Amino acid sequence: MKVTIVGSGDAFGSGGRAHTCFRVDASGTTAIVDFGAGSIGAWKSLGFQFDAVDAVVVSHLHGDHFGGLPFLLLDCQFVERRTKPLTLIGPPGLKQRLDVALDMFFPGARNAAWRFPWRVEELLARRKTQAAGMSLETFEVVHESGGLSTGVRLCDGNSVFAYSGDTAWTETLFDLSANADIFLVECYSGAAPTPNHMDWPTLKANLPGFSAKRMVVTHMGDSALARRGEMEQAGLTIAYDGQVFDL
Ligand SMILES: [Zn+2]
Repeated sequence: MKVTIVGSGDAFGSGGRAHTCFRVDASGTTAIVDFGAGSIGAWKSLGFQFDAVDAVVVSHLHGDHFGGLPFLLLDCQFVERRTKPLTLIGPPGLKQRLDVALDMFFPGARNAAWRFPWRVEELLARRKTQAAGMSLETFEVVHESGGLSTGVRLCDGNSVFAYSGDTAWTETLFDLSANADIFLVECYSGAAPTPNHMDWPTLKANLPGFSAKRMVVTHMGDSALARRGEMEQAGLTIAYDGQVFDL
């Protein structure tokens, strides 16, 4: 498994980082995990094409995590002229929210004669499915998004990728990331506890409970970015856009 950090930013692009997006390559298949409103530029800046992608998994329905899907779909249609099928997987409500986004950004596009078959699969937490040939399980986390917010766990049979999604502290993260080869954990705040998101003191206090082989901090706001040195001293890796992990 190979994991590329396409975007490691928060909703506000703190530190000049792009909206959340990860590319997960298994042997012969590729998934995208989250595709924020600004992800398409970050994706292309790495020389990536959507043609390689079999599935997109969305952790929750906030714009900085799923808002780039209209751009992705229209690029596949008009630029890459894709023919191969694409599956979009996310929490219940994904289809309806995506339709709204398409109608708002590109009126009429939703009823286009699509060159490629694409479908939406809505997944409840703690249910397993397949995404780009990998086993996918999502876990409910603590984050107000107008619907179910999840963390994501993908396994290609050899390696495990785990991602917290956006969340305040919850012990669910221990299950979600158990023995994972890589665990991407959000940490929006460097100090003060903040609703809906992780803060560094709380994450630090809970580090002994994690069994993941490597923990990578992402989705940092300015106050978290200022504490990067401390996080590295605690044994964590700091994500950056364009970073690659060969697992
Ligand atoms: Zn969010």
